[in-house]
Amino acid sequence: TRELTIIGGGLAGCEAAWQAAERGVRVSLLEMKPLAYSPAHHLPGLAELVCSNSLRGESMENAVGLLKEELRRAGSLLMAAADATRVPAGGALAVDRGLFSAFVTERIENHPLISLVRGEVTDIPPEGIVVIASGPLTSDALAEKIMALTGPKLYFYDAIAPIVAAESLDMNKVFRASRYGKGDGDDYLNCPMTESEYEHFVDAILAAEKVPARDFEKVVHFEGCMPVEEMAERGRETLRFGPLKPVGLADPRTGQEPHAVVQLRAENREGTMFNLVGFQTKLTYPEQRRVFRMIPGLENAEFVRLGSMHRNTFINAPALLAPTFQLKSDPRIFFAGQITGVEGYVESTGSGFLAGINAARLVRGDELLVPPAATALGALVTHITNADVKHFQPMNVNYGLFPPLEGKVKKKERRGKLAERAMAELDRWIGTV
Ligand code: FAD
Repeated sequence: TRELTIIGGGLAGCEAAWQAAERGVRVSLLEMKPLAYSPAHHLPGLAELVCSNSLRGESMENAVGLLKEELRRAGSLLMAAADATRVPAGGALAVDRGLFSAFVTERIENHPLISLVRGEVTDIPPEGIVVIASGPLTSDALAEKIMALTGPKLYFYDAIAPIVAAESLDMNKVFRASRYGKGDGDDYLNCPMTESEYEHFVDAILAAEKVPARDFEKVVHFEGCMPVEEMAERGRETLRFGPLKPVGLADPRTGQEPHAVVQLRAENREGTMFNLVGFQTKLTYPEQRRVFRMIPGLENAEFVRLGSMHRNTFINAPALLAPTFQLKSDPRIFFAGQITGVEGYVESTGSGFLAGINAARLVRGDELLVPPAATALGALVTHITNADVKHFQPMNVNYGLFPPLEGKVKKKERRGKLAERAMAELDRWIGTV
């Protein structure tokens, strides 16, 4: 008898399967490739990296570097695969995606407790313990069944705006205010532009390199989600009458309304991250960094998430999931990967790691575990359980999700200290795993 069923042999599903099997639990891993492919998947193997071959930076200055290190220490299969198949990429961990997929596929296929079953799953198994890890491009039939389970809270978004770290903003240029002083009056950060700054900015957006649309991305854009570059193409003043409109936003330093204003909205309760309001975009990542740093106050902005446009299926995790990655309304069902609202390869792997361990513990009748909040793995849990239910969006791991350090710490030492504290807590926690 199979004891754990995992749907989806992507990043999260493979990590979950491995962790569960290594804990003595029998796993059925169900993967639709090569019988059916999502519009972005092309390789027949498991754990396919659909776009970039980079698992991002190695430095602990960035929370994704810490997350990778935590996963290594905790015995992650996918991190072992990445380290074994890496290619030179400066400070980043990039891999040969063919070798990476082959490494994972070989380990999964040869594990005595894992059976890999190929074929599209069109329904959630009515019984038994299940991990749903079918990814942001979950097939339509299964997505419908998931929606029946989660209510109308399975979102399909085609537009995402970038997010910047608050500490990287130039507060001498930015001012706090809400339009016409509504709300708290200072809910937004505002980046004022002069006429010539605006004109240069529009020119830069029009000339910037865009990611070409793939067939599956030719989705209807709701008017409210139109990419910023498409608005610019409609006319030079369109942005100034759209997301960059200055009315009701007098700059307290001059008493005047600027020519145009880019608004930043807090992304979390702590106010450590802000999104660029109305800036959903298909500019390439390097072009976003270049062009959006032309916005006054954002010259040195650190982007904790860049804007992107693709179909993205994810559930409203803060409303639906427990910190163990279980569905609150039906705890035999776990979710893992991008479908939970974590963003990125490493984050998907991390959530697969946690869901796999807990699903195995449920099978064995052991108590379920939640990692310490001060670790990068814990930060993933914080995001999916504590984020605002009304505005929940996928997000990369970042230090804004960590509990603050105690006492006064110099800004340039903060990240190192956060990483140190995380490692110490992780090592203690691994003992219990
Ligand atoms: P996946 O890795 O997609 O795994 C899901 C698996 O489930 C797939 O193998 C799929 O074939 C299978 N499946 C789906 N439906 C069914 C079904 N009904 N039955 C059986 N099997 C099924 N993140 C980055 O860090 N860097 C990037 O460059 C990047 N680019 C992206 C580009 C696109 C177009 C998209 C959509 C996402 C991108 N992401 C990127 C985000 C994210 O990190 C990846 O999508 C990541 O692969 C998510 O991992 P996952 O395990 O949740 O899903």
